[in-house]
Amino acid sequence: MRKIPFTIPDIEEEEIKEVIDTLKSGWITTGPKTKKFEEQFAKYIGCKHAIAVNSCTGAMHLALLAYGIGKGDEVITTPYTFISTAETIIHTGATPVFVDIDPKTLNINPEKIEFRIRNFPKGSRPHRDGAELRIKAIMPVHIAGQPCDMDEILDIAKRYNLIVIEDAAHALSAEYKGKKIGTIGDVTCFSFYATKNLTTGEGGMITTDDTDLAEKMRILSLHGMSRDAWKRYTKEGSWYYEILDEGYKYNMSDIQSAIGITQLQKLEKMQERRKEIVEVYNEELKEIDEIITPQQKEGTKHAWHLYIIQIKPKLLKINRNEFIKELSKEGIGTSVHFIPLHLMPYYKKKYGFKPGDFLNAEYVYERAISLPLYSKLSKSDAQYVAKIIKKITKNNLPRSPRWSFGEAGPRVKAGA
Ligand SMILES: *Cc1c(COP(=O)(O)O)cnc(C)c1O
Repeated sequence: MRKIPFTIPDIEEEEIKEVIDTLKSGWITTGPKTKKFEEQFAKYIGCKHAIAVNSCTGAMHLALLAYGIGKGDEVITTPYTFISTAETIIHTGATPVFVDIDPKTLNINPEKIEFRIRNFPKGSRPHRDGAELRIKAIMPVHIAGQPCDMDEILDIAKRYNLIVIEDAAHALSAEYKGKKIGTIGDVTCFSFYATKNLTTGEGGMITTDDTDLAEKMRILSLHGMSRDAWKRYTKEGSWYYEILDEGYKYNMSDIQSAIGITQLQKLEKMQERRKEIVEVYNEELKEIDEIITPQQKEGTKHAWHLYIIQIKPKLLKINRNEFIKELSKEGIGTSVHFIPLHLMPYYKKKYGFKPGDFLNAEYVYERAISLPLYSKLSKSDAQYVAKIIKKITKNNLPRSPRWSFGEAGPRVKAGA
């Protein structure tokens, strides 16, 4: 039996050499390699500024802080994301406001954003034009690497004077209508966590074209110290620095940047490999009626961080959890992206969320399985995964005629 893990980082001799070179250089924390990584990343994205940090979580936190978002403010995001997105809003003292997703793309639904802005939930004052809006920003998440409807989101942001901070943890190399993700919203945040399309073990990057804001985020990322404080231990550096703000320890080390520089050089090659796998899955799985393969919207370039299938439990004898167990018995590692945040005990307790609040997120969550997708996965492994999925599906068709097991679409609740 084959063993196919859910993910393996694509680390090779080049990364190892670059790290050893850094270790021997005498400079291992933020320094020349980080500067080089930032410059090359900005060039790749086509943005003015790239600021390397120790995570995407840190990146999003700094972006919110740089815009002065804090206590009393609200920030719109999706419940269908990793905890970081909402958590960083809470870190600033602001309140996350969830808006449900489009069950086809798994991305936040712009119509529901507008609905939420105009209709406060029961008990709060409805928004009227001219009244002060507590909502200050939108944080769209490009789930799996598929860009959100950015034209619609930017239009809403413009009309209600909101900032757009993109969680692009999945979306490095993705494009929306010919524009690279990282050049569209006010600020974009990338992740280089171990499983992401480009990894530095842990790490993140902030991109923006706003020079003042970039300067502010850079200062906040290293204790609020005056610019180039990292140089204070170099020959040209000075011992003197000033604290200009209440900062954080969010800087990226040169050891991480060494890996990043090498990964960036081979990013396009790694993306090509991901696309090959996606083509295998698309081709092999499209004939299975009991499974929905990911949809790609026209006019976008998908980064294919994740390949999320949705099973149709009503057409099968087994549910999603059992399907995952079957895959695991065959040696195939999978994951679920994501457990909706409003179902998390802490969020239920703190904000009073309950099941049923975001029906599309819950609908997808009950059906989603992320398949192995990474540059180290061979085409034949992908074919094997598809073969096993076919086998499990076939072995679990209900005996009764299929017409009695109609699969309804997700229920729709206005504003959810
Ligand atoms: C991975 C991930 C993050 C967090 O990235 P870190 O670099 O680990 O902080 C944020 N958002 C989403 C959607 C993610 O998948």
